[in-house]
Amino acid sequence: MLIVMNPDASQADIDRVNEIIEKLGYKPHPMPGFSRTAIGITGNKGAVDPSHFENLEGVADAIRVTKPFKLVSRDLRPEKSVVKVGDAYIGGDELTLIAGPCAVESYDQVFEIAEAVAASGAKFFRGGAFKPRTSPYAFQGKGEEGLKILAEVREQYGLNIVTEAMDEKGVDLVEKYGDCIQIGARNMQNFSLLKYVGKTRKPVLLKRGLAATLDEFLLAAEYIMAEGNYDVILCERGVRTFGTHARNTMDLSIVPAVRTLSHLPIIVDPSHGTGKNYMVIPMARAGVAVGADGLIIEVHPCPEEALCDGAQALLPSQFRVLEAEVRAIHEALEPQKAVIPA
Ligand code: PEP
Ligand code: MN
Repeated sequence: MLIVMNPDASQADIDRVNEIIEKLGYKPHPMPGFSRTAIGITGNKGAVDPSHFENLEGVADAIRVTKPFKLVSRDLRPEKSVVKVGDAYIGGDELTLIAGPCAVESYDQVFEIAEAVAASGAKFFRGGAFKPRTSPYAFQGKGEEGLKILAEVREQYGLNIVTEAMDEKGVDLVEKYGDCIQIGARNMQNFSLLKYVGKTRKPVLLKRGLAATLDEFLLAAEYIMAEGNYDVILCERGVRTFGTHARNTMDLSIVPAVRTLSHLPIIVDPSHGTGKNYMVIPMARAGVAVGADGLIIEVHPCPEEALCDGAQALLPSQFRVLEAEVRAIHEALEPQKAVIPA
């Protein structure tokens, strides 16, 4: 059930609807938009009786939701959402660039890359301290020590930190040191982890699973939002197909598909999406051209020595080329209506 308020409904009207939802034993999710607020209801087992709401002051409509997802849906908020991450925004008029190494390897490695990323004008720095590796013998990340290095990068360069958590303990640590919790492709359907990050108040970058459909992807975001954390950014990072020319197949058609169904921002990851250095810039251009809100890019000063994902890392000089090109492409596109958080 979705309660759509009148454009002139007062805060007291909205509070009254929230109260009734809570009295019924459900959870209200008020979502202010440009012209009106809508309130999503979760926690109900069967259909909710619309007569509880229809005659209340300020209520325009009580609508049954037929899609499998509610809170991620454009029915709840017809405009795009903008998510605040640290002191910057994702999903607004400005193109988001998140750049940095796959993994935090050392203080010197991270600071060399951070210097280049900060000089480029990107506002977000990435780097994994907890790495989900296929082999248990591969470098697993520096853990809390790595997060401390990332926190120093924020201190020194003012970059907002995006970094992955793989379990609940990791979430607690990323909350402490970082600005945005990345949930990796392999954990997209780790439902207990999704619920856990849903209880935090840090924004979440949710990467699409290796074989996830659009509905599965949006329902994973719904898990986080149903717990009350509405600051979710989606990320297309390629899916498994029969192709062997690239590490994954970047499914760019998901960007317009997400736009029609969801108000959440979506960025693309041409680094993991292709796995190959020479493909990253062309696919980054394509990602921006298709309407993504931003890009997440792996950068390393010495890719052949990288402890993780060296084959797809851009040199800092290549990242500068990418940045100039994708900003020009983004400039050419029509801005879309978006709701900037208070
Ligand atoms: C990463 O961003 O370094 C990463 C491991 O990504 P994914 O979960 O998309 O493989
Ligand atoms: Mn990587």
